[in-house]
Amino acid sequence: MTVAAQADDTSVRSDSVRSEPVRTRALIIGTGFSGLGMAIALQKQDVDFVILEKANDVGGTWRDNTYPGCACDIPSHMYSFSFEPKPDWRHMWSLQPEIFDYLKGVADKYGLRRYVRFDSHVERAHWDEDESAWHVFTADGDEYVAQFLISGAGALHIPLVPEFAGLDEFEGESFHSAQWNHDVDITGRRVAVIGTGASAIQLVPAIVDQVAELQVYQRTPPWVMPRPNNALPEWIRRVFTEVPGTRALTRLGIYWAHEVVGFGMTKQPALLRVGSWLGKWNIRRSVKDRELRRKLTPDYRAGCKRILNSDTYYGGIANPKTEVVTDRIDRFTANGIKTADGRERPVDVVVFATGFHVTDSYTYVDIKGPGGEDLVDRWNREGVEAHRGIAVADMPNLFFLLGPNTGLGHNSVVFMIEAQIRYVAQAIAAVDKAGVKALAPKRSAQDEFNRQLHADLDRSVWSTGGCSSWYMDSHGRNRTLWGGMTWQYWLATRRLRRSEFTFSGR
Ligand code: NAP
Repeated sequence: MTVAAQADDTSVRSDSVRSEPVRTRALIIGTGFSGLGMAIALQKQDVDFVILEKANDVGGTWRDNTYPGCACDIPSHMYSFSFEPKPDWRHMWSLQPEIFDYLKGVADKYGLRRYVRFDSHVERAHWDEDESAWHVFTADGDEYVAQFLISGAGALHIPLVPEFAGLDEFEGESFHSAQWNHDVDITGRRVAVIGTGASAIQLVPAIVDQVAELQVYQRTPPWVMPRPNNALPEWIRRVFTEVPGTRALTRLGIYWAHEVVGFGMTKQPALLRVGSWLGKWNIRRSVKDRELRRKLTPDYRAGCKRILNSDTYYGGIANPKTEVVTDRIDRFTANGIKTADGRERPVDVVVFATGFHVTDSYTYVDIKGPGGEDLVDRWNREGVEAHRGIAVADMPNLFFLLGPNTGLGHNSVVFMIEAQIRYVAQAIAAVDKAGVKALAPKRSAQDEFNRQLHADLDRSVWSTGGCSSWYMDSHGRNRTLWGGMTWQYWLATRRLRRSEFTFSGR
């Protein structure tokens, strides 16, 4: 790899606005699993690249989310790069600090930090047809020019705080779960957690003993499956480290166990009844109060919203310090939260565990393709679609990792990311091999891929399970999840089919 594109010279950034654009062959956005994995693939392929990272460290989701109890709900032997195994994970479902350390370790091992421009928030990009290159601009005015633009930003990084009336009048502390304010001491305070999704069910049991009073504002109860997550004993970690094949076999077992759940979600939603039984048992064993059990029991099919896992959530909910509030939030006041029944509860600290801008996350970067076509306008008009969830018709050399319809409700997204990285690497190689400058999927290929995908999704539990979820856009179309088994996605992206692309720019 040539050094022209390396960021050595600016890995410690200067505050002065650069006058000359930085030129490179590939520009990667983000340093989570996607961005780092892509960088490693490009290194191997000897393609020059620069990585733009909005924050001041690598790690993506696992850098940002530092709330108490933050952990992964997919076992780490599967939720890690296949080419960079870690046999000695301390828990089966790792806690955030260990996953963050893992990603920092990967970045260091492959020497990736020198390619990263930290504190570089991408705001807009446009395609220059004469040059066959993307011009990309960051919030502080820096310009980058690259033949290939690869977003590893994902869709779960823009915190969503609902627009509650009176929020600006509230005089206590408040923050989003993904922006935990560690300067605020919650010890002995009255704390409100808004939301009962994946983040909330982890943080509620982690803070309940510390606070004086915990109000949990639940709009829709989640299905929560039992999951013991004690630290793995030293001998098991030694076996994974020293006995050949044990770690790989474990990974394989985890993969297929999760695929069985995926089969239920995508092909046979009726099978998910088993999940409802397990979820009800999980409630019964921790919650004795019948009325509270009723409040906590979902009325939609398990899997319709993300299935959650915890052995401790219901214990935290049944704690005498905790109150589950199911009345709609009417407004915030200076001292607390008022619900629709007219009751006001005083609160010192509010945690918004209210999720992320997902189906509209694409609106946060302004991308203009050939002829100035605005991708945000197109996706607003036609719905968010990409070819194989990665490339976009008539948008040359533009790739999304964990793009439209490639999230998962049942298995490790790192598996999907690796499939996509390989596909993007093949696309770049195909351009070089053809002696051209660019490629973009044909409309017909993209339309056919999405026709089949949405036919599958229409039969899935996400469409038929009787819930509303953040997987759906404002028209009720699932724009977030892959509609089949993950091995089917692997097959669909294993080889880039040149016939599905238009090549341009000699
Ligand atoms: P989430 O699953 O979107 O949950 C948001 C919660 O806030 C829901 O309970 C939602 O209620 C509630 N809510 C939203 N707007 C509200 C309003 N106006 N009033 C009252 N309640 C409101 O968000 P999350 O928990 O941060 O998780 C997001 C995703 O991040 C997960 O699904 C998962 O993919 C990922 N995640 C993963 C892990 C992991 O272990 N790997 C951990 C955390 C997060 P409704 O259900 O009624 O909409």
